[in-house]
Amino acid sequence: MQLNTPERKLVKEGLISDYLRSIMADNADNSEGQTAQYIAALRDADPEPFATALCTLDGRIYSSAYGGSFTDANVAADQVEFTIQSISKPFVYALALEEHGIEELMKVVGMEPSGEAFNELSLEGDTKRPVNPMINAGAITVNQLINGSESSVEDRVAKIHDFMNELAGRKLMLDKQTASSELESSDRNLALAHMLRSYHIIQDSAEDAVNSYVQQCSIKVNVRDLAVMGATLASGGVQPLTGKRVMKQSVARQVQSVMASAGMYNAAGRWMARVGIPAKSGVAGGVLGTLPGQLGLSSFSPKLDEQGNSVRGVRVFQRLSKDMGLHLMAPEPRGRASVRSLTEDESTGESIVCLQGDIDFIGGERLYRTLMEHQLKHKQLVFDLTRVDGMNSVGRKMLTNGIELLREEGFSIRIEDPDGLLA
Ligand code: GLU
Repeated sequence: MQLNTPERKLVKEGLISDYLRSIMADNADNSEGQTAQYIAALRDADPEPFATALCTLDGRIYSSAYGGSFTDANVAADQVEFTIQSISKPFVYALALEEHGIEELMKVVGMEPSGEAFNELSLEGDTKRPVNPMINAGAITVNQLINGSESSVEDRVAKIHDFMNELAGRKLMLDKQTASSELESSDRNLALAHMLRSYHIIQDSAEDAVNSYVQQCSIKVNVRDLAVMGATLASGGVQPLTGKRVMKQSVARQVQSVMASAGMYNAAGRWMARVGIPAKSGVAGGVLGTLPGQLGLSSFSPKLDEQGNSVRGVRVFQRLSKDMGLHLMAPEPRGRASVRSLTEDESTGESIVCLQGDIDFIGGERLYRTLMEHQLKHKQLVFDLTRVDGMNSVGRKMLTNGIELLREEGFSIRIEDPDGLLA
């Protein structure tokens, strides 16, 4: 049996998507929280869709949708589109950094965590700058920098929209209905904009500034888009599907640093300690995560906790981080290729896969990608674990499940495991 026959789907879909599905199944019964109440279009949204996605830096997307009654039963939750809301903030910050550079930005917006709610009026005492670009005051300020101070709202939004399209690698829609619904209850954001204007931090009228900002928040994405956008940041600015550099490496680093300290509203400190992944959430229920050098992650589930973060999304991220050893501060060594070599031994009639380093989720994923992409010559497959230093539970599970699936596909497998890693 050749590896690239349709049966290979079993391995491809059996491992990672199944794992994602199992995490979601564990959290699907959680009905805590409520949809964002202050925006009518979000308040009345279907609270059920639940989806999660991962994107590797070379553009492989894994997504999983959990069942339930969705608005459109034909659309799986990983295809359901929702407004990006605050998850636009890091990306528009990136665009502003590209256009103006960090020095200019620092004049109008800081980079300290505020520890306050997203719509808090947090301005620095002396400079009157908003403390960071992840709270609304900062995001409205950053929005105003796009396309220069003379720009019309339309051109500014078009510029942002184009950039979002480049990040997602496809044309995204802008949901005018949600934008106008939000404008009907924008007193707080208007107050922020008036205040910013009174300190000469922004120049446009408060109405135009909020209109422009609200439209940026109304661009629609699905979890797969978000994972790709996260992977673009994680890779240092190269869009994984198009291969195009969409921002400088220094910009991607700056954006993720601010996300790490201020991305999760007033839960940012707890988030960093428990999950340890730079992230940004939005009130429509999306969560975006970036694991620098490794992955983009995302989830979608509309019910929010008191901080405005998706209840099921937070749980999914906690699990992903724990199971996959993704916490940035964890001491687990990373980045070593898991597959050292794949050799065809004609004398024994065996295909030999030699693994090395630490097998975690990323290592397991690389192994399966290697198996998918190579035509193995022999039906005798050897996994040589002699050079493997360690394995976490997900790495071990991926390896054992994968071996089982390969056996089901007719391969005969031999494992060289002198240290008993799989025992
Ligand atoms: N457009 C929303 C607002 O400004 C975004 C809030 C959020 O996602 O946190 O209120």
